[in-house]
Amino acid sequence: MSNDSILPTGQRRDVLQTVGGLAGFALIGSTSAAGAGDDGDVEGDGATENGRYALPELPYEYDALEPYIDERIMELHHSAHHQAYVDGANAALETFEEMRSESDYEDVKAAKRDFSFNFSGHINHTIFWQNMSPDGGGEPDGDLGAAIDEGFGSFEAFREEFTATAENVEGDGWAMLFYEPVADLLFIGQAESQNGLAHQGSIPILTLDVWEHAYYLQYENERGSYVEEWWNVVDWDDVCDRYEFLTQVEAGKGKDDDHADETDG
Ligand code: MN
Repeated sequence: MSNDSILPTGQRRDVLQTVGGLAGFALIGSTSAAGAGDDGDVEGDGATENGRYALPELPYEYDALEPYIDERIMELHHSAHHQAYVDGANAALETFEEMRSESDYEDVKAAKRDFSFNFSGHINHTIFWQNMSPDGGGEPDGDLGAAIDEGFGSFEAFREEFTATAENVEGDGWAMLFYEPVADLLFIGQAESQNGLAHQGSIPILTLDVWEHAYYLQYENERGSYVEEWWNVVDWDDVCDRYEFLTQVEAGKGKDDDHADETDG
């Protein structure tokens, strides 16, 4: 397939021009979430060849989302919490290798659970950081705006459902807007912890962390206030890019539909 126009600069075409490579890009964008890649200290190309994950840099400073999210929350959340998921995922991979080399699978259940939790945490947070911007807020237009109107009735209805979904996560977890490629639709789901309530094959394009570590230092037990203020930092350009990337890849939809109107008219 040819996707030259959507390939990020610096990414290797031979990695991206596979379904798996494209799915990886859909999840982590241009950030090297798997392996340090171009940054140098882990051998690899920024994809998955070295089989190790790395903490991506934030696309803004720790204080950039104030007053909506405090600098200290961002610093701890990124440098300590996200780093722990990266380390945990890599440690689980090493455990897998040890088990294979020794043919000893006594601890396989714990290792598989560790990887699911930590890898999911790594991906959830990588998307979450990119979904936010100091220039965020407002609402989406373009293909995503139209898809939200079609799927939820209006942006206001979408926002109401997403907010309710986030506020009603039981304990620690996430609210997420997913693109579901089988029926080509958007839906809002929850994740319990980092990895509970799986929606196989669906790709999150907007993630909201409602673990207490994401807001407690600033909002204490007022999760609803945190969620309301978070809407001010949502980077709809990023969410739109994710949606358009997925829907253009899928069977050449998107651009072709636009042109159909012109030729028919
Ligand atoms: Mn978190």
